[in-house]
Amino acid sequence: MKMNNLTSEAKCLGQEIITARGLTKTFPGGVRALDGVSLSVQQCEVVVVIGPSGSGKSTLLRCLNGLEDVDEGAVIINGTPLDDSSANRLAIRTETGMVFQSFNLFPHMTVLENINLAQRLVRKKSTAEATETTLELLERVGLTDKRDSRPAQLSGGQQQRVAIARALAMNPRIMLFDEATSALDPEMIGEVLEVMKDLAHGGMTMVVVTHEMGFAREAGDRVIFMEDGHVVEEAPANDFFDNPKQERTRLFLSQIL
Ligand code: ADP
Ligand code: MG
Repeated sequence: MKMNNLTSEAKCLGQEIITARGLTKTFPGGVRALDGVSLSVQQCEVVVVIGPSGSGKSTLLRCLNGLEDVDEGAVIINGTPLDDSSANRLAIRTETGMVFQSFNLFPHMTVLENINLAQRLVRKKSTAEATETTLELLERVGLTDKRDSRPAQLSGGQQQRVAIARALAMNPRIMLFDEATSALDPEMIGEVLEVMKDLAHGGMTMVVVTHEMGFAREAGDRVIFMEDGHVVEEAPANDFFDNPKQERTRLFLSQIL
């Protein structure tokens, strides 16, 4: 969290906003992607999820916002259970912004139109209202001058910043990032991490899957290490890196650091 202003403090009073209990998910073919994963996230907390490929990180994020259904276990987002109620599911999807490795912007639309779209369709805003929000967000991600560009005219880092702005335009309470910088050329990773750090410092609740250990240490409050659908180790970010408890965690860190 590491707040940089007083306005963020009111909403960061230690309330639990994500509760996941005993999540189990087996895919057809028998892969057990999640095997009893539990997770609690407080408002304004930044939780970083790391682990080898195939350990269940993406599945966990997708189960938190209902993109994927669990076989067993419970997810509660901001007091709303992720159950069969379509109203609850919609509430959770709109309160939970997600940013993926691939940006998936609409190629035939400008940056402005891309960010306006869901605000008009889902939030039922007028074009003028949507545009006002979009311009504020473009300033926040440093892309004011790109409002009329099309995605193909932007670098990967710029496109990912547009994708972040598009997610923020829904005014989510939670942001989920799934390897948001993994597809970027190295020189563009920093500009996207900066936007994510700004969000973290501004009090956004975030669950971040990443291989960027510098980000994890600097912006993360807590780190969770997963393997084979399990949480192997979970600790405050500095403890996690300075004093990992599990042999498996030490091995993983020695391989990537
Ligand atoms: P990570 O994000 O940590 O790399 P994933 O959550 O993507 O891991 O995947 C966890 C396991 O579940 C892997 O073995 C993967 O192959 C499997 N898996 C993920 N999605 C599917 C799917 N849609 N169908 C079948 N198996 C899947
Ligand atoms: Mg993944």
